[in-house]
Amino acid sequence: MTFTATPLDQIAPTVARAREVFTTGATGPIAARVSTLRRLAQELRAHEARLLDALAADFGKPRHEAWFTEIGFCTAEIDHTLAHLPRWAKVQRVPTPAAYQPAASTIVAEPLGVVGVIAPWNYPVQLLVAPAIAAIAAGNTVVLKPSELAARTADALAALVADLADPAVQIVQGGVAETTELLAQRFDHIIYTGSGKVGRIVMRAAAEHLTPVTLELGGKSPAIVSRHANIDVAGRRIAWGKFVNAGQTCIAPDYVLVERPVHDELVAAIGRHVDAFYGPDPQRSPDYARIVDESHFHRLEQLMHSGTVAHGGRTDADLRYIEPTVLTGVGREEPVMAEEIFGPILPVLAVDSLAEAIDVVNAGDRPLALYTFSEDAAENAAVVAGTSSGGVCVNATLLHVANPNLPFGGVGPSGMGAYHGRSGFDSFSHRRAVHTRTTKVDPLVLYPPYTPIKQRLVRAGLRLPDPRDLMARLRASVRRR
Ligand code: NAD
Repeated sequence: MTFTATPLDQIAPTVARAREVFTTGATGPIAARVSTLRRLAQELRAHEARLLDALAADFGKPRHEAWFTEIGFCTAEIDHTLAHLPRWAKVQRVPTPAAYQPAASTIVAEPLGVVGVIAPWNYPVQLLVAPAIAAIAAGNTVVLKPSELAARTADALAALVADLADPAVQIVQGGVAETTELLAQRFDHIIYTGSGKVGRIVMRAAAEHLTPVTLELGGKSPAIVSRHANIDVAGRRIAWGKFVNAGQTCIAPDYVLVERPVHDELVAAIGRHVDAFYGPDPQRSPDYARIVDESHFHRLEQLMHSGTVAHGGRTDADLRYIEPTVLTGVGREEPVMAEEIFGPILPVLAVDSLAEAIDVVNAGDRPLALYTFSEDAAENAAVVAGTSSGGVCVNATLLHVANPNLPFGGVGPSGMGAYHGRSGFDSFSHRRAVHTRTTKVDPLVLYPPYTPIKQRLVRAGLRLPDPRDLMARLRASVRRR
């Protein structure tokens, strides 16, 4: 596939432009950040048709799904950010211990500088623009690098950035060579979304400049279904979460662990809902996407040889089409259980208990998302407490990603750091500690010579809690009793 590539010798100057703009202080005032975000929202709306066309051309992304998960997602994130930015950016007053009085202590959220945003192809608008929204809100300049695998969308994003014409927002296009050159530049923060393999390359390159990174990676996100679940609703929600974007979603339920007594009922429910969503021939549905490229198509075709096809199974190589497919009787050692599927294939595995399901999950890497289905709140709580993951939905799939009040990010091999809403603002800010003293008084107690009386005063002063600490200590002692 061909894609637009920024000439290699233009990449360093592009990052330098972003740094120059940052250095002028132009992106610091809240009014400047608000103005960029407002214009970004306008450009997203103005470029909506071109972006939707490009997403459809790249991998058949259904128009409504594309609007909802890409453009609408970003404009909602901007609205949320604009509503809360003044509060997030406010100087925070904190108490000062008695020993260091009289003084005032504050925390100031400062921009970091130039933020590099490297995005994948599967949600190529959202995963490029949403981190940029947070970075701009925090007062940074950004250099965006869309994925070359969604080449037409990358061009449409470049056109949007050109129309935005804001020097705080720069873009570099291309593949491995261009990204390697980009990563050789000095950034103040890099946010990378994609595979763990490339995540390691990004982190290594960032280490050269001691640049902090946010890594939004992937993994095998499980759905656990109890015998006490509402099986019909669980089947619908799992089918939706899995087959949106033809399974090419980082937080899609990768596989299902279901208690044996309800295994067959769940498999039937998922099949029934797939039929209801996409009709008897999903290839004809306007609401079902295609696989991004031939190599992913062939990789996925191989994974369909595990277990037995309980639903779907048809493919069309010319159109990179894979039917929503449910596999049963899959062994835990089979290839489909060894790697993140990232396509429309759903293995459903029977387990004898929720404890066994928890053990299966904990035997693997900590996933990006985890879904637990039960009508018994204690069972859901036990699954949540017994496992770890970037995020969790109880009796739902995917939707934690859509709430800007929740941090979005992985843990362990599924990533580090988080963004969305306040979490994004904090990730791209430096929380600067500011201690302010008057010179009108200057108690000598801290200075040498350390006479016995000064020593006693310092010890007593450190033991003396400030009023807020006192309340916290009181509450803790009440809880202990
Ligand atoms: P991809 O191939 O589009 O790569 C992502 C980015 O890395 C692209 O911009 C690409 O140009 C760049 N890149 C690729 N190889 C590189 C190299 N050798 N050196 C430097 N840069 C390189 O996307 P992908 O990796 O196929 O994405 C799929 C993975 O991303 C899955 O594991 C998925 O779960 C994960 N993902 C995570 C999230 C999240 O938010 N946590 C979201 C989407 C996808």
